[in-house]
Amino acid sequence: PYDVLVVGGGPAGSSAAIYAARKGIRTGIIAERFGGQVMDTLAIENFISVKHTEGPKLVASLEEHVKEYGVDIMNLQRAKRLEKKDMIEVALENGAVLKSKTVIISTGARWRNVNVPGEEEFKNKGVAYCAHCDGPLFEGKDVAVIGGGNSGIEAAIDLAGIVNHVTVIEFAPELKADAVLQERLNSLPNVTVVTNAQTTEITGADKVNGISYVDRASSEEHHVELQGVFVQIGLVPNTEWLKDTLERTRFGEIVVDKHGATNLPGVFAAGDCTDSAYKQIIISMGSGATAALGAFDYLIRN
Ligand code: FAD
Repeated sequence: PYDVLVVGGGPAGSSAAIYAARKGIRTGIIAERFGGQVMDTLAIENFISVKHTEGPKLVASLEEHVKEYGVDIMNLQRAKRLEKKDMIEVALENGAVLKSKTVIISTGARWRNVNVPGEEEFKNKGVAYCAHCDGPLFEGKDVAVIGGGNSGIEAAIDLAGIVNHVTVIEFAPELKADAVLQERLNSLPNVTVVTNAQTTEITGADKVNGISYVDRASSEEHHVELQGVFVQIGLVPNTEWLKDTLERTRFGEIVVDKHGATNLPGVFAAGDCTDSAYKQIIISMGSGATAALGAFDYLIRN
């Protein structure tokens, strides 16, 4: 059996595995796809102390660092069930069952897609999902934010300070964001809000050049010329496989304490799959380290 079994091989899981293995305890890491969301990222400019890098490059160094410590890496393996018996058991899709004294869950999250023509084609070519990450790449340009919930309006306010103009496109007849955010948004001179609008296409040639939507009341079609589209219709944690084994929020995020512990003794969690306030590489790495130290503490006390 393992002392620490990490489920998820993104920045949170890599960081947890390194911190655990450096304690000289038996550590394994299971990843459906090593690297996680970072594999889908082009430019990264907010990983502090590294001015600029690219997703696959950062993933290669993560893997190299994990390999430095004799961690068992089980890549391309998907966990499907977790069960606490005398040890904690993690069942994989391939039929194997792994046992460990502690488990750290770091299965991350995925952005909900709008699923319109152009979204997939122009990912990283004008279609973005994270204003903190990619906002500065659109300095002085025109962009749209799809989604009028809290994350969409926060992104729109953030972007309005950087870009030339922001068009917010909301499907429902009114914005869903908190009133304070809406007031702040309405006070900005360079934002247009379109409600009751269904996005139909993100247009472009080699990169994004516009967005099309239909006014759901009049059925009229509209096209706005712009250079960037931020999709903000939800971040979904990859925690469905846990079902009712652990306490999760109504959004499906795993509830953790300040040691990264869940409500199930010996099970810890880190990164975007948890109820952490912000979802970023540097934050997920920090929480991975916290969860590993929490797990080590648990091991020496039990
Ligand atoms: P993830 O990176 O999501 O990793 C989850 C891991 O778990 C993966 O290995 C996955 O395969 C695995 N997994 C999932 N389910 C299972 C399962 N059932 N069994 C086994 N393994 C499983 N952040 C920044 O700080 N700066 C940026 O510039 C930036 N740009 C971004 C650009 C894009 C396009 C995207 C999508 C995100 C960006 N982010 C950026 C956010 C950042 O990537 C995430 O906050 C970070 O990757 C979260 O790390 P994580 O380890 O918690 O989860």
